[in-house]
This record gives sequence, C-alpha cells and structure tokens, in this order.
Amino acid sequence: MFRRVLIANRGEIALRVVRACRELCIESVCVFSEEDRGAHYLDLADRAVCIGGPAPKESYLKADRIIAAAEVTGADAIHPGYGFLAEDAAFADKCRACNIEFVGPTGDAMRRLGDKASARAVAKKAKVPTIPGSEGTLEDDNDTIRVAEKIGFPVMIKASAGGGGRGMRVVHDKTDLLAAIKQAEQEAEGAFNSNAVYIEKYIDRPRHVEVQLMADTHGNVVHLGERDCTIQRRYQKLIEEAPSPAIDARTRKDLCAAAVKLARVSGYTSAGTVEFLLDRKGKFYFIEVNARIQVEHPVTERTTGIDLIKAQIRSAAGEALAFNQRSIRPDGHVIECRINAEDPDQDFRPCAGLIERFRPPGGFGVRIDTHVHEGCMISPRYDSLIAKVIVRQPTRPEAIRAMQRCLDEFVIAPIKTTIPFLSRVMAHPDFAAGTVDTGFVERSM
Ligand code: ADP
Ligand code: ADP
Ligand code: MG
Repeated sequence: MFRRVLIANRGEIALRVVRACRELCIESVCVFSEEDRGAHYLDLADRAVCIGGPAPKESYLKADRIIAAAEVTGADAIHPGYGFLAEDAAFADKCRACNIEFVGPTGDAMRRLGDKASARAVAKKAKVPTIPGSEGTLEDDNDTIRVAEKIGFPVMIKASAGGGGRGMRVVHDKTDLLAAIKQAEQEAEGAFNSNAVYIEKYIDRPRHVEVQLMADTHGNVVHLGERDCTIQRRYQKLIEEAPSPAIDARTRKDLCAAAVKLARVSGYTSAGTVEFLLDRKGKFYFIEVNARIQVEHPVTERTTGIDLIKAQIRSAAGEALAFNQRSIRPDGHVIECRINAEDPDQDFRPCAGLIERFRPPGGFGVRIDTHVHEGCMISPRYDSLIAKVIVRQPTRPEAIRAMQRCLDEFVIAPIKTTIPFLSRVMAHPDFAAGTVDTGFVERSM
C-alpha cells in the first residue's frame, strides 16, 4: 500500500480523498492555489503545499509543479479527483514515468476512452449501441453534410475532447450546419486545446442513465449498478439517483453488461463511468466514458456500501478488488442534490461570495459532502459546486420526502444557491412520477 498520496484537486473532492486516505492509514498531501490558502479542509491533510496562483492554469492544471510537489513531499501516488488533470492521459503517463502511481486508468486506456470520438469507435466495435453519427471526427465540409443528411436533422455537434456540458450545440437545419461547425471548432480549440468535433443524431427528450464500473489490475471488472442523471441544466447534472425509475430489470442487465464489455475490451482499470442516453422507446445508446471518479459517486456508495475512493486507491496499489459481481447488491433508493453557488432565478448565474451562515441538514440516511463552513469565501474562479446532499431510504417516495426535508433544513446565506430550485423539483409531480427527460428543467421549471 502507498505511504503518502498527493491530491491534485481542491474543494469537496479533495476532502473526500483526504478522508479515505486517513481511514486507509495513508498520509495525505493537499496542493492548493493562493486563492485556496487557509481553506479549512487543508488542515485535515497531513501536509499542504501551495502550487501557484488563483487561476487553474497557474496551479491545479500545472502538471510539472504538481509532480514536483509529490516528489518534494515523498508522495508515492497522485489522486486527481475529477476535473482539472483527471482525464489528462499525458499527465497520467508523466506521473508513472516519475515513479509516482496515478490513481486512475493507464494513459493508453484513457486515450482510447477519454476522447469521445475514439470511445464511440471502441463502443461500435464492441457492438455496444451508439448514436448514429460520424465515424470519428469530421474531415471536411462535404463529409459533414453527407453525414448530417444521412442521419437527419436535428443533429448535435460535439467536441471530441469536451466535458462539463461544454462544447455541444444542436443544429436543426442544413443551412446552419457549416457555420455551426466552424463555431464549435473554435470554441473547442479555446476550451479544450483541440478543434476536433463530430456529429451525432440529436435524441429527442432522452434520459441520462450511466453505469458505475470498478476494475483492478488483475483482470477483474465489475459494475455497481446504474445512476439516473436526467435532471440537468445546460447539459450539466443537478440531481442524480439510483436505481433509475425509468428502466426495467432487463434493460438494466443489458446496460450494465454493455458497460462491463467496454471496460474489458479497452483494458480499463480503476473506477470509471459509462454514460448512455435512453430514448423515448426505452432503447439505450452509448454517449461517453468518464475515465475518472465522478461527482455523483456517493449515490452508488450508498446503494452498494462500497467506498469507491478506497477501492480506487487499493486497486492503484495493485490489490485485487475486495468484492465481486455477485457480492455487490445495490439496495434502497438514493438521491443526490448538487448545491451550487448559483442563482436559479437568473439562469443559474454563478454567485460567489462570503458564506456567513451555514447549517447543513442531518438525520437518518443523510450524507453531506462539503468543504464549506461559516466564514468561508466561495471563489468565482472554480466550479460552483459547494455541497452534495445524499439521502438513502427504502423507497423512492421516501427518498424524495427525505430530500425535501433536508433541503428545507439547509441554511446557506447570504449567497444564492440552487437549494430553492432543487426543492421545487422534489415537489414536482413529473419528478415524483419519474417521467422527466433531460429537457425538463428548461421546459417546466
Ligand atoms: P460529467 O462528466 O458526466 O458531466 P460530472 O458532473 O462528474 O460528470 O463533471 C464533469 C466534469 O466537468 C467534472 O470534472 C467537473 O469538475 C467539471 N465541471 C462541472 N461543472 C463545471 C462547470 N460549470 N465548468 C467547468 N467544469 C465543470
Ligand atoms: P459531457 O462530456 O459534457 O458530459 P456528454 O456527451 O456526456 O457530455 O453529454 C452531456 C449531456 O448532453 C447528456 O447527458 C445529454 O443531456 C446531452 N446530450 C449529449 N448527447 C446528446 C444527443 N446526441 N442527443 C441529445 N442530448 C444529448
Ligand atoms: Mg457526460
């Protein structure tokens, strides 16, 4: 097992990994930017090292500086969390070349699956259903028009290196196509340092259902069931739950088997998620792989009782999985709400600032993941996620009711948060009926 793990991230996920390390009797080293200096969660790590300025490009994205920090502090592994360098294959390779284990898949597996166009090709080859679209990235204008006409409008343009809901746009008409492609390429270049884009059929009013995977370096691959992340705004998840209210046992079995197959054919190790869209007829299509731990991993931790961060660290250290497919028995109903520092009444505009009052809920089956406390400053420079509320109850109606109660209790002031919005969703009859689709928030809230 590792002696010391460096955490190349910040906020709630950094704290989540610090806690897992402590329970595994591993020392933790947090890196932080000048903006995060003095954050309370840093006190819970064994060491904390400043790696640069407030902008992510000056700190949390500085691969060399992070590796240097690991070397100076004698860390033998780096956990990347999610976002920042978590899906950077070159970073994973660089860590290992410096004899520091990267807690995640190999650089090669990441290249095969992390890039969306290449992952589509892998899925297609493995006979996992994909959305009709271009083979790989787009070549030229003629290629683009040919593919779009073949699949039919509306189509969705997606950045191959995209993530976090960015780099996507819908095109309804042929006359807009080429201009939209040009814009998408420019945006992708700016946001992801790659102008590669592809197109796929725009699925009408789908649901988002994903499968959590865990794989070790001994050839064991298991799934830990699905999560339903249909409640989104701007292609970003706001609420996640398990099990999905929209699939039957048969679909669940096929979905999970498809995800496991993808991991096997691509030599995947560590935790990962295979995302699918479910169309109106209940047919599922692969959309992408997230080759890292995800924001919503606690949902699965609460249905299965498995600590995914510990499992990731153990498998990075070469241990075989401590569970197998038969021993994993998801149970109960779990809902997670993302509390973001945003104003839901102003199109979810980020609302950073000082938190003067912070009173999180508690009680039966409630888990709160947060790095926030009274007197804490929320910076506008980073992700707006400030807390996750996770509830587990025997049934879905009980879970909805418990979440409603937690949201009522939760006090965060004076900054605006998504709490009132989340509360309205919990009270909405369509959410209770389990009949929503990814357009629900824009249409009905
Ligand atoms: P998914 O990849 O399916 O969207 P997550 O919600 O786990 O799943 O997060 C996506 C990634 O994008 C995460 O790594 C997260 O840090 C990042 N991210 C989430 N929200 C934003 C945002 N508003 N701006 C930039 N990046 C974001
Ligand atoms: P990201 O990497 O940003 O998470 P995804 O490919 O996972 O990108 O897509 C994010 C969300 O965008 C999906 O959950 C879904 O709501 C929407 N989306 C993606 N592809 C399509 C599609 N072809 N048709 C309709 N909606 C889509
Ligand atoms: Mg996604």
